[in-house]
Amino acid sequence: MELRLYDTLTREKRPFQPIDPNNVRMYVCGPTVYDFAHIGNARPVIVFDVLFRLLRHLYGESHVKYVRNITDVDDKINDRAARDYPGLPLNEAIRKVTEETGRQFHADVDALGALRPSVEPRATEHVAEMRAIIEKLIAGGFAYVAEDHVLFSPQAMNAANSVLPHYGALANRPLDEMIAGARVDVAPYKRDVTDFVLWKPSKRGEPSWPSPAGIVAQGRPGWHIECSAMAWKHLGEHFDIHGGGIDLVFPHHENEVAQSCCAFHQSRMANVWMHNGFLQVEGDKMSKSLGNFVTIRDLLADWPGEVLRLNMLKTHYRSPIDWTLKALEESARTLDDWYRVAADVTPGKPAASVIEALLDDLNTPQMIAALHGLRNDADDDGVFAASLRLLGFLSESAAAWDNRKRQASGVDAGEIDRLITERSAARARKDFKESDRIRDQLAAMGVAIKDSKDGTTWEIAR
Ligand code: AMP
Ligand code: ZN
Repeated sequence: MELRLYDTLTREKRPFQPIDPNNVRMYVCGPTVYDFAHIGNARPVIVFDVLFRLLRHLYGESHVKYVRNITDVDDKINDRAARDYPGLPLNEAIRKVTEETGRQFHADVDALGALRPSVEPRATEHVAEMRAIIEKLIAGGFAYVAEDHVLFSPQAMNAANSVLPHYGALANRPLDEMIAGARVDVAPYKRDVTDFVLWKPSKRGEPSWPSPAGIVAQGRPGWHIECSAMAWKHLGEHFDIHGGGIDLVFPHHENEVAQSCCAFHQSRMANVWMHNGFLQVEGDKMSKSLGNFVTIRDLLADWPGEVLRLNMLKTHYRSPIDWTLKALEESARTLDDWYRVAADVTPGKPAASVIEALLDDLNTPQMIAALHGLRNDADDDGVFAASLRLLGFLSESAAAWDNRKRQASGVDAGEIDRLITERSAARARKDFKESDRIRDQLAAMGVAIKDSKDGTTWEIAR
């Protein structure tokens, strides 16, 4: 079976053919580093980590390059820096905020079992590439300078008679409809309503760099140009896969395509555009004002990262996901069971049923069904263990997993084991009054037990 991926641009699932199977290239828009990442931000991290792992499995570990950027120029970063480090020069304060937030982000996504990407470029280290692209766009007649800004003209792009794609094709929005529906209060330096910023002057106190196109004033890049520059530097003018959340299709990705294709005279920036659906919490859009804003860090205080990972993968990446406590509890029970069966088993080869599910546009619900099938087979635990490891599970031993669960719940594992042994002895001598008493005592400690032919197991009743 071959890998098939859904492409947002052509709106269909198509067979994936790498441009160069020895160098499969993927770019995913990463976080803006100004605060703890929320559980919605974890969705693209986990989804594209699974794709990265699958591509490495198919093409070889050293033949896949995954780039996920860090956006470290943003007004929210400046605000946070000014607030948290009022005594420091702004640039130093910004560096402190972005380094600290970047570290937090890494710690969080490491705990989710996500591999580090091959490269994690920072926007501020690619300003030269941004200037170079801007110069090319001006030279090609796609961009112009006005009042120390550089603007991109989608209308110039669509008027060009060449290989270029049409502006609006990715988001499926015709340019004339955008013009008709645009706001009237357009910035005075824009020739047309749909023009967007490639470069702008820095206000006092904002970070700034030497400007392109002979502009004397120092300035700063627009958001979209960052990703065109970082993708170009690390993956070239045309690469295989570009991903991110569905909210980024317009304007961010539409503008990336416009910039990169016009600068490099390409018909495509990436061959496949992939977008994950949005995550909401207990049926509501996540927002600070609703009080249901959940960071990855908050969740990691209560759940192992692999539980969050499994829970995320229960839903297909293109569907919306409703993040609920009930689903988390179920994911925790599933992983407890999988750890018990597979964590200490020598892995064999991953199962074909698991790989096949992923080959079908990362069908993770089907993949999980396949895993349940392997679990119940009891034929070959090595295949089950290898499949779980390939997917980023079983990073701990069964004992470490159990221990952590016990620590997290604040119960004394030794005491529980002692009570369970006593209860088994009571049952063996048919003293059911005593065995029931012990079960109730455990329940009062928040511990639920389950008897099966293999013995008695326990879990924290949440
Ligand atoms: P940001 O830091 O807001 O630019 O977001 C980083 C990544 O997280 C982008 O790929 C976004 O599309 C994605 N993202 C943000 N919020 C959500 C959400 N609620 N559900 C799914 N993905 C999200
Ligand atoms: Zn981007």
